[in-house]
Amino acid sequence: MTVTRFAPSPTGRLHVGNIRTALHNWMLARKAGGRFLLRIDDTDAARSREEYVTAIRADLAWLGIVPDGEERQSERLHIYEEAFEALRAAGRVYPCWETAHELELKRKIALGRGLPPVYDRAALALSAEDRAAKEAAGDRPHWRFLLNHEEPIAWQDGVRGPQKFDPSQLSDPVVRRADGSWLYMLPSAVDDIRMGITHVLRGEDHVSNTASQIQMFTALHAAGFGAANAMPMFAHEALLVGSEGKLSKRFGSLGCDAFRERGIEPAALIALLARLGTSLPVEPIAQRSMLVETFDLATFGRAPARFDEAELERLNAAIVHQLEHAEVADRLPAGMDEAGWHAIRPNIAHVGEAAHWWRLVTGPIAAPAFDADDRAYLAHAADLLTWGDDPWHALTAALKQTTGRKGKQLFLPLRQALTGMDHGPEMAQLLGLIGAEEARARLRNAAEG
Ligand code: GLU
Repeated sequence: MTVTRFAPSPTGRLHVGNIRTALHNWMLARKAGGRFLLRIDDTDAARSREEYVTAIRADLAWLGIVPDGEERQSERLHIYEEAFEALRAAGRVYPCWETAHELELKRKIALGRGLPPVYDRAALALSAEDRAAKEAAGDRPHWRFLLNHEEPIAWQDGVRGPQKFDPSQLSDPVVRRADGSWLYMLPSAVDDIRMGITHVLRGEDHVSNTASQIQMFTALHAAGFGAANAMPMFAHEALLVGSEGKLSKRFGSLGCDAFRERGIEPAALIALLARLGTSLPVEPIAQRSMLVETFDLATFGRAPARFDEAELERLNAAIVHQLEHAEVADRLPAGMDEAGWHAIRPNIAHVGEAAHWWRLVTGPIAAPAFDADDRAYLAHAADLLTWGDDPWHALTAALKQTTGRKGKQLFLPLRQALTGMDHGPEMAQLLGLIGAEEARARLRNAAEG
C-alpha cells in the first residue's frame, strides 16, 4: 500500500512551495488508493510554535487536502532515542565537541585550499582518554552519523532519474545537538521506516539529505531497527520560483491567507499547483478526481517551475464560472439564490465580486439622465413590459417592432434604466431576478428623469 507524508516544520506558515509538495503527496496517495500522512516535524522546540501547527492544519483543510492520519515528532522522542541507541551500539553515531566557531574555521580553511568543506572527522580520532576528559569536564557532545565511505550511494529518483553520491564527499551529518535535541535527518528516517512510508516526495533542496538518509536507512535496518527493510522511493521535485525569479512575499510565506483574502479559490490553486512544472497542460479543472487521475511523476520536469500570479488569476476566474451555488452559498450576499448566482457567475473573477452585481438586482440603482427621446422610449417600455417565460426577449422584440430601434439604441437605455450601468450580466437573467414590479418602476423612474 502506498503511504506518503507531508512533513512541515511548524516554524512558520506554509508557503506555496510547501503547499505544492503537500498536494503532490496527497495526489500520489489518492491515485494509488493509499494513505497520506501529515507529520509535524516539531523536534526543534525553540522554533516550533503551536499556532503554526494550527495554521498548517487550517490551510490544508481549506485546500481540501485531508490527511489520513497525523503524527507529531515531539511525541515520538522515545523512538528516536531507541534508534539512536541502536546506531550507537553499531558504531554509526559518534560524539563531537567542536564549537560552531571551530567548525566555521575548518570550513574556511578547506574552502581556502580549494577543497570541499567536508567535516574532517577529527572527533573520531580522539582517544578514549580525550573523550573521558571532556565528559568529566561536563562538556556535552553533539553527535554525527558516520557515513560509510565504502558504501556508494545511488537511487532511482522518481523525478530526477538515476542519482549517485560519493559518501566521502559528504560531511557526516550532525543528528543530535549537545542539549540532546534532534536535528531533522535522523527522526525523519526513523519515522519513514516506522510509518511504512513508501514514497518520499519533496523539494530538490533535500537531494543531499536523501544521500545521507539512505545510509541511515541501511544502518537502521542493519541495527535491527524497524521491521520493514524496504527503502522508500525518493522523488525530488524542482523548486518553485516566482515569475520574476523570486516568489513574492505575499504568496511566498503567508500560508493560504494571502490567497483566501485575494479571493482565490482553493480549486484554482490546486489546479495550478497540480500541473505546474509538469508536461501536462495547466487547465481550469475544478474536478479534483481528474487531476488525481492524470497525476504522474513521470510528467515532472527538472527545470524550476514558474508560479505566475496572472496565471492563477485566469484560472480562478475560469473556476469561479464553474462553481455551483451550494459551493459558494455561504459567501454570497443574503438572498442571492441559485438563479442569482447563475446570472452573475459569468461576470466575476472572484466570488466576493458577486455582491457588487447583486446590488443591481436588489437596488436601489442610480440610472443616468436620459434625453427626451430615450425617456419616451423607456416610458413605452414600461407600458409594454409583460411577465411571461422570458420577459426580456418579449420586451425587446416588442420594442424593436414598435420603435424600429435596434442594437445599442434598443438595448443600452434599457440596461441603464434597469441597472444603472452600461455593462454587466445578461439582461435576460437579470430582469427575471429584478421582478416585474420593480423593473416597471425603474423604467418609469428613468422615463420621468
Ligand atoms: N521537516 C522537513 C522540512 O520541512 C521535512 C522534509 C522531508 O520531507 O523529509 O523540510
